[in-house]
Amino acid sequence: MKQILVKEPNQIEVVEAEEVVNIENNEVKVKVLYAGLCGSDVHIFEGHNPFATYPRIIGHEVMGTVEKVGADVTSLELGDQVVLEPIKTCGKCKPCKIGRPNICEKLQVYGVHRDGGMQDSFVIESDKLHKVSSEVEPEKAVLTEPLTIGAQASFRGEVGEGDTVLIQGAGTIGLCCLLIAKYKGATVIVSDLDEGKLSFAKEKGADYTINVGEYNLLDEVYKLTDDKGVDVSMDAVGINATFENAIKSCAPAGKVVVLGFEEKPAQVSQVDITKGELDIRGSRLQTHQFPFVVDLLERNLINVEDIVTHIKDKDEITEALELFKDDNSRKILIKF
Ligand SMILES: [Zn+2]
Ligand SMILES: [Zn+2]
Repeated sequence: MKQILVKEPNQIEVVEAEEVVNIENNEVKVKVLYAGLCGSDVHIFEGHNPFATYPRIIGHEVMGTVEKVGADVTSLELGDQVVLEPIKTCGKCKPCKIGRPNICEKLQVYGVHRDGGMQDSFVIESDKLHKVSSEVEPEKAVLTEPLTIGAQASFRGEVGEGDTVLIQGAGTIGLCCLLIAKYKGATVIVSDLDEGKLSFAKEKGADYTINVGEYNLLDEVYKLTDDKGVDVSMDAVGINATFENAIKSCAPAGKVVVLGFEEKPAQVSQVDITKGELDIRGSRLQTHQFPFVVDLLERNLINVEDIVTHIKDKDEITEALELFKDDNSRKILIKF
C-alpha cells in the first residue's frame, strides 16, 4: 500500500509500505478514501510546524470505510463510513480529568506527533473513529475535522442566538467558524483581503463582509454595531495585527477567540482588556465536538457545498501542495 511521507522538511514522497494484517481486539482497520490537505500539513512539509517530528506520514482530516473490526469492537461494523478524531490523550493529567483532553499534557495529534491518515489504510483504536451515515457524501464527511475546529471556536466564544461575531480570515478555518456561528444564531461579520473569498463567505451566510484592503476594519465593525463592538471576535488569520484588532473590536464583556500559533509578542494594552472585562480564550483542536458536527452533517443543517474545490490523487501530492498556495483554492482533497 502507499503512504504519503514527509521524510524531512521539504522532502515529500509517496512510499510503499506493508499493509497491517493483524489487528488488536479493540482496533479497527480503515480503508482511507479521502484526506483533506490542511495548512498544518503544509507547515509540516515546509518545516514550520513546531510540534512535528520526522519522518512523518501526514494527514489528520481523514475519512474512509471500516475494512476490519477487532473482536471487542461493538460500535462499528464492516463497511461503515468513518472519520478520524485525530488526537491521542493520556486520560490522567489535569486537563484530561477536567474534560479538556484537547490540551492534554501528553497530547499527540495524528499526522503531526505521530503518523496520520494519508495512506491507503491504517489501524487504530475504535474510540478514535466516528461513524457518519452513508447518506453524507464522502466529500462532505471529510470536512468533519475542520468543522470541529470551527465548532470549538464557537464553543470557546460561547456563541449564541443574537450574538454578533467578527471572524477575521475567510480561508477554510474562517469558513468553518462562520458555518457554525451562523448555525448557532449569530450575526456574522467576516473580513479578509481577498474579494473572492469574501463573496464566497457571503454565499455561506456571512451577514456582512469587510475587505480590509480597502476599508479600516475597526471603523467598519463599529459602524455595523452602532459603535458597540462585537460580542465575540475570532481570529482565523493568526498574525499580530489581527490579534490586536480582535481585542479592539470587542464590546464590553466580549470574548476574543485565538486560533493562531504566532510566537512573536503582539502589542496589546491592558486597558483594552480591563475596561470591558474581555475574555481572551485560546481555541485548540476540539473537545467533544465530533458528535455535534457529524449530527449537523447528517441532518444537513450546515451548507458545506463547494468548500472542496479540488480532488487530487495521492500521487499528485506535490501538485496539491502547489495548488494550496493558489488563492482560488479552498479545501483540497487527496484521494486514496
Ligand atoms: Zn486541519
Ligand atoms: Zn492527559
